[in-house]
Amino acid sequence: MVRAGESAWRGRQLAEAIYHQRITELSEITTLPKSLRLRLIAEDWQVARPAITQVFQSIDGTERSLIQCQGPEAETVETVWMPEGDDGESGDDSDSNPGDEGAKRWRRATICISSQVGCAVNCQFCLTARLGFRRNLSAGEIAGQVLAVFDRHGVEVGRDRVNLVFMGMGEPFLNYDNFMAAVRLLIQEVGLSPQRMTVSTSGIVPGIVRFAREPAEFRPKLAISLNAPNDAIRGEIMPINRKWPIKSVVDAVRQVQLRPRERITFEYVLLGGVTDRPEDARELARMVRRTGLPIKVNLIAWNPGPGIPCTMPQLEAVEAFRSALVGAGIPTSLRQPRGRDIYAACGQLKRTVEG
Ligand code: SF4
Repeated sequence: MVRAGESAWRGRQLAEAIYHQRITELSEITTLPKSLRLRLIAEDWQVARPAITQVFQSIDGTERSLIQCQGPEAETVETVWMPEGDDGESGDDSDSNPGDEGAKRWRRATICISSQVGCAVNCQFCLTARLGFRRNLSAGEIAGQVLAVFDRHGVEVGRDRVNLVFMGMGEPFLNYDNFMAAVRLLIQEVGLSPQRMTVSTSGIVPGIVRFAREPAEFRPKLAISLNAPNDAIRGEIMPINRKWPIKSVVDAVRQVQLRPRERITFEYVLLGGVTDRPEDARELARMVRRTGLPIKVNLIAWNPGPGIPCTMPQLEAVEAFRSALVGAGIPTSLRQPRGRDIYAACGQLKRTVEG
């Protein structure tokens, strides 16, 4: 509004209209004087959300949406809606929504949000990496994905239980300012809780250090995409590890002031024959224990993608890996693959237009 020659407090009215009332047309923002609305429209200002251009539906209820962002370098990103959550990021045990049975076909949901078009990190098991890095999303484009999906599913803030995971396309900590600005929009303007948000990083140490300094009221929970029990294996599958090895990541994570009962999540993708062996489980358990941090491990059986030279782990290997960690006293969950049939599962987001 300042750029449009108006007072800054008009910006508050605008934010309230866009993010709280969820209005998508300037002409409908009646808290602004009509003359101002007409002038803004004439000057080609818009309050529209990123548009959902295509939706792929999985047999398990998951939806993968292609979202068109605005601007001259228009590109699509992907946002995934997972009704009932995915058993990996439930956050706490308050996810039931009593008295609401039957009103909707879902009782709780998780939305996986993208932070960049493509990604520069180049994890070897990830389809998004194949796109390379195209551009950062703006704060509005990141928060706008959430609103677009909220509108589509009739989500009511304050009533419905929705978790946000910043684990879609891109590395949020390589788009730090826009990512955190989106988080603040979602908390301050939309009314969501940071304790229902989890951001996952591949281990961008300067980003983790900045994140550790964020005030608790604006800090989502943190997940580290670990994926290997040592630097040798991690360096092979995640080249970023050569810049920031595991110890430097863990040291940065130590700076985060956790809330009571909060845990850091270590995500661990099981790649057949590479990271799913019994010795990997034992080494991971030792490494995790040595950190002394309150953590939990979230196992993800690798999801296949076209042209990626990795192998799915055997079911028995997944179960043995999980038992080994649990046996070693490490809190461990196994994330159920969601929307694998529509390329919506972890590591599969690449704007694949097949259903
Ligand atoms: S796993 Fe995440 S950080 Fe790694 S290439 Fe894929 S999108 Fe980027």
